Amino acid sequence: MDRPVPPDCTPESLGFEAALAQVLRTVRPLPGAETLALTDALGRVLAAPLIATMDLQPWPNSAMDGYAFAFADLDTALGAGLELVGTALAGHPFTGRLGRGQCVRILTGAVLPDGADTVVMQEHATLAHGRLRLQRPLPVGANVRAPGEDVRAGQTVLPAGSRLGPAQLALAAALGQGTVTVHRRPRVALFTSGDELTPLGRPLGPGAIYDSNRYLLRAMLQELGATVVDLGIVADDPAAVRAAFAAAREQADVVISSGGVSVGDADYVRDVFAEFGDIHFWRIAMKPGRPLAFGRLGETWFFGLPGNPVSTAVTFHQFVRPALRLLEGEAPAPPLRLQLPLLEPLHKAPGRLDFQRGIVGPGPDGRLGVKSAGAQGSHVLSSLAAANCLIVLPADSGDLPAGATVTVEPLPWPGTPGRDVF
Ligand code: AMP
Ligand code: MG
Repeated sequence: MDRPVPPDCTPESLGFEAALAQVLRTVRPLPGAETLALTDALGRVLAAPLIATMDLQPWPNSAMDGYAFAFADLDTALGAGLELVGTALAGHPFTGRLGRGQCVRILTGAVLPDGADTVVMQEHATLAHGRLRLQRPLPVGANVRAPGEDVRAGQTVLPAGSRLGPAQLALAAALGQGTVTVHRRPRVALFTSGDELTPLGRPLGPGAIYDSNRYLLRAMLQELGATVVDLGIVADDPAAVRAAFAAAREQADVVISSGGVSVGDADYVRDVFAEFGDIHFWRIAMKPGRPLAFGRLGETWFFGLPGNPVSTAVTFHQFVRPALRLLEGEAPAPPLRLQLPLLEPLHKAPGRLDFQRGIVGPGPDGRLGVKSAGAQGSHVLSSLAAANCLIVLPADSGDLPAGATVTVEPLPWPGTPGRDVF
């Protein structure tokens, strides 16, 4: 289905929130689903809800190593003691039924025998001459995991649109479900543009640089589970850019470019795309990452990102990532944002919404705070590699003193230093 971008967003420059809202309003989940074994489903998005067909726990079982008995026998257990009549191990239930005044040795995960409803942990009981005496009273049902305590049969445990991580896969496995129905992976074509760009493995010519955005974009796409179609480096030449778009529309659900999208003499990406499809070129009031192109080419979505590596990273993170998550069928959710104190003063020129690379960590008093990750130029990759968050500073904000409260957005990428503090 061809869904042209609505015409209400063609201004020359646009606020960040308006641009993001426009992107998120426009994209829709890609059609197509597949059924996968749990072992192949990490990171995929459920296309159908996961509905429990059994209770979890399936049986009443013991949460402790101890002794199972009937609560009605508590007074006997505290007085004359209970007769020990057998053992229940995990996977080896006690097959008999407890009579009055009887108990069974039970280990963690073993099914509670018929007639028992309560477990005393072994540290709170003494066993002598085949009789068990409790040292103190305990409530009915103590140390017993009830059937359905975690999940009830028929319950929707994960709605469609849930992304499957280790915990979600474990939940499906605990419910006996070996397969899940997930959205298909999006195919994302990628090209970088610029006559100065050099592939790795070749010596740098005069004025040349290595094509780092290819690796940045590939990695961010892989983290989202996309299948990457790499179209290579495209020269600053309209014919080459035209050929790249022609290849992309054949092969991909989404095409992402970096560079060539500004208004310089050698910036052809935007104009060439406009020959093919509906385009919205925005000068977004944000830093880094001012120029951004977004459009539709037949069935293919297009994101033209700026070339400066940190601008590429931030615009991908803020625009492409949520759009891809929607395309992948994931339920939309705003990013997690935290309010934290600055551990050091922070420089900010008033004017644009600023996403500064930051480091969240404990301050001198042990409480979490945030500080700059270093130089903030949009070409500075070392501070991006040191960062574990973006500090989101409103347009009108100027320099901020230590102790000021700022908004922080954790970066989600694997390898992000100190990611485990969040
Ligand atoms: P552009 O958006 O094409 O004007 O590029 C802006 C800046 O980003 C220039 O300094 C480019 O050399 C640099 N740049 C563009 N593409 C890449 C890339 N793929 N990898 C690293 N730097 C790039
Ligand atoms: Mg360029």
